[in-house]
Order: sequence, then C-alpha cells, then structure tokens
Amino acid sequence: DAMDTGHCETRMERDGREYQFDMTRIQADGEVVGAVLLTFDVTEQAYAERNRREFTANVSHELKTPLQGIIGSAELLENGMVRPDDVPRFVGHIRGEAQRLVTLINDILRLSELDEGGSLPTEPVELLSLCTDTVKSLESAAQQRQITMTVTGEAVTVSGVRRLLTETVFNLCDNAIRYNRPGGKVQIITTCNRDGHCSLTVADNGIGIPREAQASVFERFYRVDKSRSKATGGTGLGLAIVKHIARIHNARIKLESEVDVGTTITVIFETAH
Ligand code: ADP
Repeated sequence: DAMDTGHCETRMERDGREYQFDMTRIQADGEVVGAVLLTFDVTEQAYAERNRREFTANVSHELKTPLQGIIGSAELLENGMVRPDDVPRFVGHIRGEAQRLVTLINDILRLSELDEGGSLPTEPVELLSLCTDTVKSLESAAQQRQITMTVTGEAVTVSGVRRLLTETVFNLCDNAIRYNRPGGKVQIITTCNRDGHCSLTVADNGIGIPREAQASVFERFYRVDKSRSKATGGTGLGLAIVKHIARIHNARIKLESEVDVGTTITVIFETAH
C-alpha cells in the first residue's frame, strides 16, 4: 500500500500488546528508493481509548435514565393524567431526577478535570483538622440517618492538594453514611507510623461489600446495589474519584469489608511531608 500511495498505517496485536506500523515511501528524483517503517507500541493508548469509549457509553446511559423519568412524568402532567393530589409527588419526582443529573454532571466534570492531569500545586495539608472540617458538612446527613461520626487520631501533615483531599474524605464519609444502618457508626482516623507513612481511615459498621465486588467498587459507575445507590443519591463515581485523587498523591488504597459487619477504607500516603 505504502509503495502505491506513499503512506499507510496499520495496527496489529501480538502477545497481548498492540502495535501501530506507519510506512512511508521514500523517493529520490521521482524514483522509489525504499520505505521507512516506524513501529509504535500503542498498548496503553489503545487501552485508554477503549476506556474512553466505554465511559462515554456509560455516561450516555446514566444521563438518559433520569431524563426519561423526567419526560415521562412531565408528559403525564401535561396530558392531565395525574390526579390533583398526586401532582406534588410527580413534580417532586421531576425535581429529584433533575437534581440527580446535576450531581452526576458535576462528578463527570470532576473526573474529566482529574483526567486532564496537569500538575496541581501541592501544599502541606494537615489531615486531622481537614477531616474535622469536612465531617461538619455531613453532620445533618448523618443525623437524618441516625449515624454518629467521630474523628480521632493525631495531627498528620501530608503534601497534597487540599481541595482534592477534602473531596476524598467527603466521598468516603458520604458512602460510610449512605451504606449504613440507623444507629450505625462512622470513624475517621488519621495516623502516622514510624516510617513516616501517614494514613487516613474511614471505617463504618454498615452493610459491607461482598468479597467478589470489592475489586470493582473503584471502577466508574460500578455499584453493588444499583437501586440503593440511586435511592440515596449515588452517582457510581465517588470511589472512582477517590482512586484518581489517591493516584495523584502517590497514595495507596486499602479496602477491608465484610457483609453485614462493615467497611474500612484506608488511604496510605507513601511519602511523609
Ligand atoms: P455510589 O455513588 O454508588 O456510592 P461509589 O463509587 O461511591 O458510588 O461506590 C461504588 C459502590 O461501592 C456503591 O454503589 C456501593 O455499592 C459500594 N460502597 C461504597 N462504599 C461503601 C461502604 N462504605 N459500605 C458498603 N458499600 C459501599
């Protein structure tokens, strides 16, 4: 092909890796004197492309579902099919679904912002006080579900992006409240061990995560129980965001969970400040 047209590209897979071949014809004085063949290992790039396609398909599905609910309710109202008594319920449904869309779009934007990468400016962040502050914004949600939250541990400082670390604590605590039972507990603990590795732990005694689902909960849009996640306002992106933020901070995540006993998620920062 390259000999006829001057250039051609093709992709091939071998031993689990994907390669791209670029061939270009070389001419001198109107005569073909040879060809240049460039080979690129595009495995990572192909993987990212597949991920992106999958993500787009998922996003479309996730956006469509609430929109269909909104359209359905609006149509019934429009056609006078709803009894006057039921009107507030239908309008409430529309508002609720619209609210869910806003939350979802915010999470999608957050993820794509993180995907963009770029180096974010870091600063020393003290985790104990960050946790205490973040927990305050979740107090009323916890109270509504009769859940007590405690923050304990030592003041530990890591080098990081304050806004993102706040988001991590928020997402982990938000889950610990939502996948819990009335009377449940959420404990937030910050510690530093002798090697100088600091960690942030969020432990709950809620419904737990089945062993076979534990590897998947950090994937985008994965939920153990779709109806529970939706009923409590989940987007399926919370832990994907946490994973992304941990990666940015060179932090490791440890998940321990047992059904009906509870879940403990620890973010371990490899480098002490
Ligand atoms: P969601 O918006 O659905 O909460 P997440 O990405 O935050 O999405 O979490 C993914 C799934 O992991 C949840 O749908 C839920 O099934 C499970 N999960 C997350 N945190 C907990 C927890 N503390 N206890 C039990 N299950 C959890």
